[in-house]
Amino acid sequence: SKRVVIIGAGIVGTNIADELVSREWTDITVVEQGPLDMPGGSTSHAPGLVFQTTGSRTLSSFAKYTVQKLLSLECFNQVGGLEVAETPERLEDLKRKHGYASSWGIESHLVSAEECRKIYPLLSMDVVLGGLHIPTDGLALAARAVQVLIKRTRKAGVRYLQLTPVTGIEQNDGRVTGVVTKKGTIPADIVLSCAGLWGVEVGAMIDLPIPLLPVEHQYAKTTPVPARKGINPPNWASLPILRHQDRDLYYREHGDQYGIGFYGHRPIPIAAAALGETPEHVDEHNMPSRRDFTPKDFEPAWKLTQELLPSLRESKIADGFNGIMSFTPDGGPLVGRAPNLEGFYVAEAVWVTHSAGVARAVAQLLTAGRAEIDLSECDLGRFEQVQLTPAYVSETGQQNFVEVYDVLHPLQPRESPRNLRVTPFHARQNELGAYFLEAGGWERPQWYESNAALLRELPVGWQPVERDPWSARYSSPISAAEAWKTRTAAAMYDLTPIRRLEVFGPGAVDLLQRLTTGDMSKPPGTVTFTLLLDDQGGIRSDIFVSKLRDDFFLLAVNGNTDLEYVAREARIQAKKDPWQFVHVRDITGGTCCVGLWGPRSADIVSTITSDDLSEKSLPCSRVKTAIIAGIPVTVVRQSFVGEAGLEICASAENGVRLWDALWNAGRPHGVIAAGRAAFNALRLEAGFRSFGSDITTEHNPFEAGLEFAVDGAKEGYVGHAAIKRLAEEKPSRSLRCLTVDDGRSMVLGKEPVFMEGKAVGYVTNSAFGYTIGKPVAYSYLPSGVSVGDAVEIEYFGRRIKATVTAEPLYHKQMSKPAE
Ligand code: FAD
Repeated sequence: SKRVVIIGAGIVGTNIADELVSREWTDITVVEQGPLDMPGGSTSHAPGLVFQTTGSRTLSSFAKYTVQKLLSLECFNQVGGLEVAETPERLEDLKRKHGYASSWGIESHLVSAEECRKIYPLLSMDVVLGGLHIPTDGLALAARAVQVLIKRTRKAGVRYLQLTPVTGIEQNDGRVTGVVTKKGTIPADIVLSCAGLWGVEVGAMIDLPIPLLPVEHQYAKTTPVPARKGINPPNWASLPILRHQDRDLYYREHGDQYGIGFYGHRPIPIAAAALGETPEHVDEHNMPSRRDFTPKDFEPAWKLTQELLPSLRESKIADGFNGIMSFTPDGGPLVGRAPNLEGFYVAEAVWVTHSAGVARAVAQLLTAGRAEIDLSECDLGRFEQVQLTPAYVSETGQQNFVEVYDVLHPLQPRESPRNLRVTPFHARQNELGAYFLEAGGWERPQWYESNAALLRELPVGWQPVERDPWSARYSSPISAAEAWKTRTAAAMYDLTPIRRLEVFGPGAVDLLQRLTTGDMSKPPGTVTFTLLLDDQGGIRSDIFVSKLRDDFFLLAVNGNTDLEYVAREARIQAKKDPWQFVHVRDITGGTCCVGLWGPRSADIVSTITSDDLSEKSLPCSRVKTAIIAGIPVTVVRQSFVGEAGLEICASAENGVRLWDALWNAGRPHGVIAAGRAAFNALRLEAGFRSFGSDITTEHNPFEAGLEFAVDGAKEGYVGHAAIKRLAEEKPSRSLRCLTVDDGRSMVLGKEPVFMEGKAVGYVTNSAFGYTIGKPVAYSYLPSGVSVGDAVEIEYFGRRIKATVTAEPLYHKQMSKPAE
């Protein structure tokens, strides 16, 4: 078996060793800078509260597995979890959380204030409005679990080296070959950095930026609470773990003492390099991840605690510390392979809550090539370059610390840093009153205030419905007008942030033939919508490939992970056969792209080009180079909204001229600029899937309704064997389109979908379908479900009736609704 070295014997490193052992990998060495019985990282002091339910399906799946595994190790005290609300806003949020729990298969109960008191008799009724009870939550005995895992894996042959700091990584020809320690070098084929808050330092050994910020977080223990005297054995708990997120607080029992965790203080970032060497002797009070308590910061916590739990007034703070934990720009863990060194992997910024789940996923990645749970939300490669700078990581990491318990809207943009990446059209968009949201550092117009006047002209059938306050946030009725204009005249959509790659060279056709499900041997001028699969037939991405010349392709992909995948495969190919080299170039920032979509788009373009861009000369899914208004462009006949139209790409320095030319030519035809809210709605009506929600590695093309993107005659591509097998099977579920019966009740995504009272799926995507005049949602449902079947979607505890509907809901041949 491969020689594996794991750096760090915290809850993550030891769990990975265990998961690899259970998959029969045994040549494993775990290297730890501290003493093994108490290594001194975050795990050594973690109070171990495991609240499983989050808005992330991946994280909740990790947490469910952690609970299961720690129970099997007898390292879990399943006292249940209670989250209480002091504000009406939180009470509403708990209803949404209850929905997430149903979506992810976690039992949970919304409970009244009285029921909260029954579950947790110490609570003050003056504070609590209600709560959410999750019976399977509880306390991880994390430090003990580490010891159990060390013992168990040692028996299976895993070597543990303690008091052995790793100081460097050896490599040869782009592959990891060993780990350098103060006591010598350990040869390795695979190295896993599970260094927790030291992740940045270990990453630096291979020039890999790790977007993680160690931040101090306060935890204090009270003196014995008289009301809890004699109930629990020492350090044990019998009351549920308790979260009071309105006040940034959480609680657990330690015997008759209380543990209080507090996120309400100023963020106190720290560099792990400043912590010095881990001492040979570590104990509860002397460990690198434990900093001196700053009592002033804790004062509000103690005051608020006595209001929530009046019995604690009989106690005092006995001991407190500022523990160090890792925060990332989006709050998710960092899991996956290093893009710059073969064989090097990372599993960091992982909470105890998610540790065993992450470990299982990493072990699956190593042993089977893919994790069974979609990892896109935790992928190390998900960040853009601009998001990897120390300044960005520091600012966003601190912001995430501050917001860790806040009620956040799914569309809520970060306030800072903003304007990191703007497209060449930015100034024009500002002039038109664009309302921007941010993603991947890009500023992206959601709608344009300049279109507000169109609301007065909007035909009756297109009038937007009044939304509930939550779904109305970060939304505007103007999007209805933008959708209407797209369907009846034309609209300009800024597609610049969609990642564009040039893939060219003598091996380009072979590379893309191997990686995609489409036929890349087609003649130049063709555009293929195709899939990147993994070995099991799971969808890694959906991409558009434009063939410009025999060995020159332009790819529209989903993000950084696609770039890393294609570039890595190109390197591997060139290593095998140097004549088959391929260049993979990210040209996103140097180019720009406009989607000119709508029935008048052809009329508009024809006035500013002498090239023939008619449908006859440039049919659907064809690409050609042309000159528009004197600007060299690449034009694809394609739209994501179910309308006629063109995607026009140009070099960035020509962007403003391109925008102005299209705008000026379009005005007589009623062209507008339109934002992403209209785009998403029209896209959904046209039946386009969205990667990351409708499709992930957990879904195969048959379930996702994308079998048309798999060339049946093609063989030998990644995932082909699985596709052959899957084609013979009947999928047990498929992605279905739902329309909301009352025509007005919005859902936002991730809500559970019920049939005959049973949760059978969750909403993967949703929008108001302006053309059809109803909210639209998508969900994977059991395959027996038919068009016309009734379902219910739970939104803030309310059941909304919806119907399974044939898709696409709209295509351009359809007669338009009332105009
Ligand atoms: P660690 O436990 O830090 O392990 C990393 C190991 O790597 C360390 O032992 C370190 O010595 C070793 N190492 C680092 N660099 C090197 C090197 N160069 N050479 C050799 N060894 C090296 N999470 C929850 O889920 N629930 C909670 O209730 C909870 N409460 C928390 C309360 C506090 C006060 C804090 C600070 C954190 C809390 N967390 C909680 C977070 C949780 O503790 C951590 O996320 C988790 O323990 C991280 O585990 P790990 O294995 O990644 O890191």
